[in-house]
Amino acid sequence: MSRRQNEAGPFARTDASRRSTVIGAAAQAHFDKHQHLALAADQIDLAAANPEVALEQLKSALLQIGRRQILCGTSAAPHLRVIVSRPPHRKSAMKQESAVLYVVPTPLGNLADISPRAAETLCAVRWVAAEDTRHTAPLLKHLGAAGKLIAAHEHNENEAAEKIVALLTKGEAVALVSDAGTPGISDPGARIVAAVRAAGYHIIPLPGPCAAITALSAAGLPDAHFFFYGFLPAKSAQRRAALMSLRDLPAALVFYEAPHRIIATVEDLASALGETRTLVIARELTKLFESIHACPLGEAAAWLQADPHRQKGEFVLIVSGIPTHERGGVAEAKQVLELLLADGLPVKQAVRLAASITDASRNELYRLALAWKEHASS
Ligand code: SAM
Repeated sequence: MSRRQNEAGPFARTDASRRSTVIGAAAQAHFDKHQHLALAADQIDLAAANPEVALEQLKSALLQIGRRQILCGTSAAPHLRVIVSRPPHRKSAMKQESAVLYVVPTPLGNLADISPRAAETLCAVRWVAAEDTRHTAPLLKHLGAAGKLIAAHEHNENEAAEKIVALLTKGEAVALVSDAGTPGISDPGARIVAAVRAAGYHIIPLPGPCAAITALSAAGLPDAHFFFYGFLPAKSAQRRAALMSLRDLPAALVFYEAPHRIIATVEDLASALGETRTLVIARELTKLFESIHACPLGEAAAWLQADPHRQKGEFVLIVSGIPTHERGGVAEAKQVLELLLADGLPVKQAVRLAASITDASRNELYRLALAWKEHASS
């Protein structure tokens, strides 16, 4: 049995037949762009062929979940309903507020992660503003939600905001979603929320999936704080300069990264932050090929290069914060060095002086000086 089948939760545990285990695994409903169509089709075919098995699963799962939630007019959690049948459009039993913008997180890759409240909200509203309507349409279809989609991406946020405010003015409720995770977290959406707030309308945020928080929960780093940065600049010089500005923060640093930049970014992390801090590479969270790997920053690029699969998918990178023994000293040495450089001293001389004034390592200061120079000339 595969790891995923093992993870199918109440379904896998209660099912005797192999076939029902397959359905249970399908309830994981991964819908990233490579997988969702195939899996969605599997669920629907299997459910149609096995209505009794699916209903049995539904009953036992509800017993294990220990509650009956009214969702879109059906007694089922949304991911359970997906496997029973493709639902017709339904009205929600939820009391819908009027003139409200709901900010609704959606799953990162596993449909079962939609919260009952998020599903209910998406079924209840007549309008859903989405970052990519093509991406959100299948989710609404799975939920049996009949809301009309409004495109709200980073290139039309002002126009979308005007449209949403106009709907709110008419007393309509609107849900805002992004492609995955929580809207406004490295996603378009902040301008829409700001416009709605400025127009005086009520905004109701729902808690839910977020890649950064999911990765942090499994990182196990000792830092008491974290600093969420999101996407670093695409160009290496700007990226290194940004990293230098984060170097002395006494907090774990959280980044989002795309697969085509993962190696370059990890190399820059090591050269800017030093090779010994721990890096956690969280890839494809909640999806079929989820992996979470921790190693010293200096070993990360080689680990990624050792297997091309390790460079694929979506990434959260978390670097442990500056070690306690480096804290005060480096910050002070950096300040002295930067004063000397700003006064026009050549790098070598500034490094020598700063090292003798502060006791910091020359190598460290040399690296700081080069980064300062690069930043000053960019
Ligand atoms: N708003 C989203 C959130 O709440 O996490 C983030 C949106 S941002 C445009 C997309 C980035 O989030 C990806 O490039 C990746 O860095 C990260 N991400 C999204 N889904 C992920 C996943 N399943 N595993 C790892 N990282 C993910």
